[in-house]
Amino acid sequence: MNKLKQVILEQGKLIDDDILKVDRFLNHQIDCSLVKEMGEAFYQHFKERPITKIVTIETSGIAPSIFCGLLFNVPVIFIKKTQPSTMQDPVFSEVFSFTKQKTYTVCLEKEFLTEDDHVLFIDDFLANGEAFHGAEKLIEQCGATIEGVGIIIEKAFQAGHQYIIDQGYDLYALASIASMKEGTIVWAE
Ligand code: 5GP
Repeated sequence: MNKLKQVILEQGKLIDDDILKVDRFLNHQIDCSLVKEMGEAFYQHFKERPITKIVTIETSGIAPSIFCGLLFNVPVIFIKKTQPSTMQDPVFSEVFSFTKQKTYTVCLEKEFLTEDDHVLFIDDFLANGEAFHGAEKLIEQCGATIEGVGIIIEKAFQAGHQYIIDQGYDLYALASIASMKEGTIVWAE
């Protein structure tokens, strides 16, 4: 997505050789029209698939997921990073956070995903694939099928990209970064 790449170059900030800060348009302040276009781009890529639910992890994947969910006309489920007391029959998995360098438990109310569901997973970043792997375990526990993985910004030089490809999933990244050494972003093909 060329517009996204342009916004990353104009507004993103490289924190070091492997962390990109995108608070100005995605992770804190949200550029609504850009996020709408992200949802549309995911829809265009995955529209032939029989998607029944979109699953994301709170927080930054929620906005593009809603725009995509509107086009598929399906619900969006966001996996929670803390268990609310109101959750009645949750499934759990562990996620190691790349940016926070700590492990946390994520959860999902089991009734929202069944073995009849075909899931499009959407997230803001793909780094080592820990968040995806945590979501994958929750989706598996519910018996649902993953139809595709939509990522806004993938850092293809980290392990997540290969993990998802090796599992045979349809991975679609709107912006794929090959490297970001010494303050320069190099796009992957
Ligand atoms: P992974 O689980 O694939 O290792 O990392 C993905 C998660 O870590 C994303 O959901 C995102 O929250 C966070 N993350 C990973 N890399 C970056 C990055 O370069 N910038 C920001 N802002 N978040 C990142």
